[in-house]
Amino acid sequence: MNLIYEGKGKKVFTDPASPDCRIVEFKNDLTAFNAQKKGSFPDKGEVSCGISHLIFQFLESKGVQTHWIEKINATQVRVQALKMFPLEVVVRNRLAGSLAKKMGREEGEILKQPCVEFYYKSDSLGDPFLSSEQVLALGLLDSATVSQIQGAALKINSLLKQYFQRAHLDLVDFKIEFGENAHKEILLGDDISPDSCRLWDEKTQERMDKDRFRKDLGGVDKAYREVLKRLESL
Ligand code: UDP
Repeated sequence: MNLIYEGKGKKVFTDPASPDCRIVEFKNDLTAFNAQKKGSFPDKGEVSCGISHLIFQFLESKGVQTHWIEKINATQVRVQALKMFPLEVVVRNRLAGSLAKKMGREEGEILKQPCVEFYYKSDSLGDPFLSSEQVLALGLLDSATVSQIQGAALKINSLLKQYFQRAHLDLVDFKIEFGENAHKEILLGDDISPDSCRLWDEKTQERMDKDRFRKDLGGVDKAYREVLKRLESL
């Protein structure tokens, strides 16, 4: 296995079994604010890998095309190799995070309808927001691909909202990424975990995601383990 890429939360290796696959390893690191804040906990890789595996298995079972193939061990999965689009796709159900800050409003308001947003992936530029028109004008994606991604993001949102609801968690917002495989099919890539979702306890509104780390609320490890436990029990 050769290391191809090391990101903030994962390492990506070649797969000795297939040139069209990659091995993704979840690390114990936790970062926020463009990696200016760093932390970790001992079983973070295992817990995030477990959560992501359950979510991708669920999405696949509902007909969403993803890069996920199988879990190999506690912290590693096999996925299809994708050429990733340089965009983060955020879907929101409630007002929180950067949108609450931009509007100067309290977090928690339920939005009139879910919204899909694009951010250009660039650490040096701080992942700037791009409208879908800007994505087209800049030639980052063609219009068929923009429509396909917007549709897939909304479908994934409605599936995940119901899935988390069964675990008594409210899906406030989340970030996903898409890419193209060797057959030019557009698939959901990356991973989905409390690092990239806002999950609030349905009853107490307690934050069960990376905001515990971002805002120094404490107990981030406990919250991630609780999310895994709830999803495992579905
Ligand atoms: N998000 C992410 N990676 C990023 C930016 C955002 O996973 O680089 C996730 C974040 O965890 C949240 C959603 O996308 O669930 C919306 O994030 P927002 O735009 O509110 O930005 P943030 O508050 O993270 O700065």
